Amino acid sequence: VSPHSSMDEVTGAQLIAESLKAQKVEYMFGIVGVPVIEVAMAAQAAGIRYVGMRNEQAACYAASAIGYLTGRPGSCLVVSGPGLIHALGGMANANMNCWPVVVIGGSTDQNLETAGAFQEFPQVEACRLYSKFSARPSSLEVIPSVIEKAVRTSMYGRPGACYVDIAGDMVNAKVDRSKVRFAIISLSFYDIVFLAHHGAITEALSALRAAKKPLVIIGKGAAYGRAETALREFVEIAGLPFLPTPMGKGVLPDDHPNCVAAARSRALLQADVVLLFGARLNWILHFGLPPRFNPNVKIIQVDLCAEEMGNNVSPAVALLGDINAIVIQLLEVLRKDDWKYPSDTEWWSTLKDKIVANAKISKALALQSTVPMNYYTVFHHVSQLLPHDCIIVSEGANTMDIGRTMLNNRLPRHRLDAGTFGTMGVGLGFAIAAACVERSEHSNQRIVCVEGDSAFGFSGMEVETMCRYNLPVVIIVVNNNGIYNGVDAETWKEMAKMGDLTSIAPPVTLLPEARYDEVMTAFGGRGFLVRTVEELHSALQLSLSDWERPSLLNVLIEAENRSVFTWLSSHPYRAA
Ligand code: ADP
Ligand code: MG
Repeated sequence: VSPHSSMDEVTGAQLIAESLKAQKVEYMFGIVGVPVIEVAMAAQAAGIRYVGMRNEQAACYAASAIGYLTGRPGSCLVVSGPGLIHALGGMANANMNCWPVVVIGGSTDQNLETAGAFQEFPQVEACRLYSKFSARPSSLEVIPSVIEKAVRTSMYGRPGACYVDIAGDMVNAKVDRSKVRFAIISLSFYDIVFLAHHGAITEALSALRAAKKPLVIIGKGAAYGRAETALREFVEIAGLPFLPTPMGKGVLPDDHPNCVAAARSRALLQADVVLLFGARLNWILHFGLPPRFNPNVKIIQVDLCAEEMGNNVSPAVALLGDINAIVIQLLEVLRKDDWKYPSDTEWWSTLKDKIVANAKISKALALQSTVPMNYYTVFHHVSQLLPHDCIIVSEGANTMDIGRTMLNNRLPRHRLDAGTFGTMGVGLGFAIAAACVERSEHSNQRIVCVEGDSAFGFSGMEVETMCRYNLPVVIIVVNNNGIYNGVDAETWKEMAKMGDLTSIAPPVTLLPEARYDEVMTAFGGRGFLVRTVEELHSALQLSLSDWERPSLLNVLIEAENRSVFTWLSSHPYRAA
C-alpha cells in the first residue's frame, strides 16, 4: 500500500496478486513492461514466486508445466499486444495438452478501446481459440471473482488455458476494499471427483475377462490425474501388459515387468481389448485405427471428458469420470472376483519375444564406439548416468523419438516433452518450471533437458534465465547440425565456396558444430563440448554434481557426410 492511500484501499495490481495467491497460484512467469510491472511486484509481495523470462512463449510453457506438475495452474504475466500474442503459442500448447494455466495480460486503458492505442489488440477475442475461458473484468471490484473463475475453469472438467485481460489503467487505480466482491476459494480438482456408472464398470470387466490379448494404455491424463498407485495395483492384480504414451511414461516404471513399450507396434496391432486410461486416440496413438490397430479391437475408454468418448473409434465401454476413482472402482470388483489374466498365454510370449529382439538391435547401435557418436550411443551412456528420480525434459525430432525409447522414467510426471501439439521450443521453459518446483519442495531431483540442436534454438535465450536464478538444470544438446539431419563441417565449407548459401544450403541445415555450450558459459553456467563417450561421461558427471548453476553439454553426433553434389542433386526441384 502506498503511503498516500488510506489503509483500506487496494490497487488493481494488489487485487490481481492477492486473488491469485488466495486461489493457491504459487508461481508467476512473465516479462514485465508497461502496464504490468506493478502486477509482478504485487505478486512477489503477496508471496508468489516471480520468474522473469526472455520470451512470453517460454513463460507460458513454464506456467503450464507448473499446472501439470502440481495440479494447480501457474500464472503467466504478459504485456499487451505483441506480449500477449507471443504467449498464444504457450496457451495453445497447454490447451492441447489439457494442462491448466492462467494468463494475465495487460491491455488498453478502459476508455481507449479501439482508439489505436499503443499495442492495442483485440486480446479477449484473440485468446478464445487458445483457451477455455477469456474475459476482461469491467471494474476493480470484480477482479477477484473473475480470477477465481479463471483458476477454477483451468482445473475443472478437462483442464486447459484461461485468460484474464486487465485494462492498463486498472493496475494502479484504487478501490475501497469493502467494495470488492471477494471470491470463494476454488476446491482442488482432486477434491471433486466423479465416478463411472457401476453398470459400465461391470461391462468393462466382462469385456476384459473375455479378452485373449488385453492391453492397458496409460496416457498423460493418468499422470495428471495422479492415478499411479491405483493403476499399479490394477495392472499387477490383473496381470496385464501395459504400454505408456510418451508422457504416460513413469506412471508405472518403464522397467516394470509388465511394461511392453519395447514391443509397442506389435502390442497395438494385435491387442483385442484395450483399456485406455487418459489418452486420446489421436495421432500419438495412430487414431486407434488400422493399419496400426486391430480393426476389431474393443476399446474400454476411461476419460473425464464426455466429448472425447468415441473420437475416431466407438468405445465398447465408456467409463466417464476421474481415472484414479475409476481404477479404484475396477479394483473393488476385481478383488472380489479374484480374476487374473494368466501369465503363460501366447500373447505374453509373443510380446516378450519381440521385446528381446528389439533390445538386441538398439544394444548393437548403442555399443558402437565410432566418433562422431550416433544417437543410440549417446542415449545409452546418458541413461547409465542419470539418477532414477530425475525429471527428463525432451524435445526434438530424432532426439525425442529415440530418447523416449532409451531414457527410462521410474516416477510419474517425470517426463515433459513436445506433447500433443508436437511443439518445439517447450524444453527450456518446462525445465525452468520443474527446477522451481524442485527448489520449493526440496526434492533433490535433477532436471535434465535433452534437446535437439534445432529444438534448443527456439527458446535458447532462456539459458540466461536459468543462470540468473541459479537453477541447476542440465541441458544436453544432441547436435547433428540441423533439423532431422544436417551436414558435416567439411561439406558445409564446400557448399559455402560454391555460392550464396541461401540459395544452395539444404533448408534442414544449421551451422555445423555450433557452440551452444558457449551460450551457457556466456552467462556463467558450465559449458562442455563433447565428441566422445569419455567426454560425455566426465561432462555429465561434473554437471550432475553441481547444484549451484546450470550446465550445457554440446554433444556433437554424426551428421550426413554425403558429397555436396549428392546433396544438391537430391533436391527435388533442382534435380528437375
Ligand atoms: P497422451 O498424450 O498421453 O496420449 P492425451 O493428452 O491425448 O494423452 O489424453 C489425456 C486424456 O486424459 C484427455 O482426454 C483428458 O481429458 C483426460 N484426463 C485428464 N485428466 C484426467 C483425469 N483425472 N481422469 C480422467 N481423464 C483425465
Ligand atoms: Mg538436429
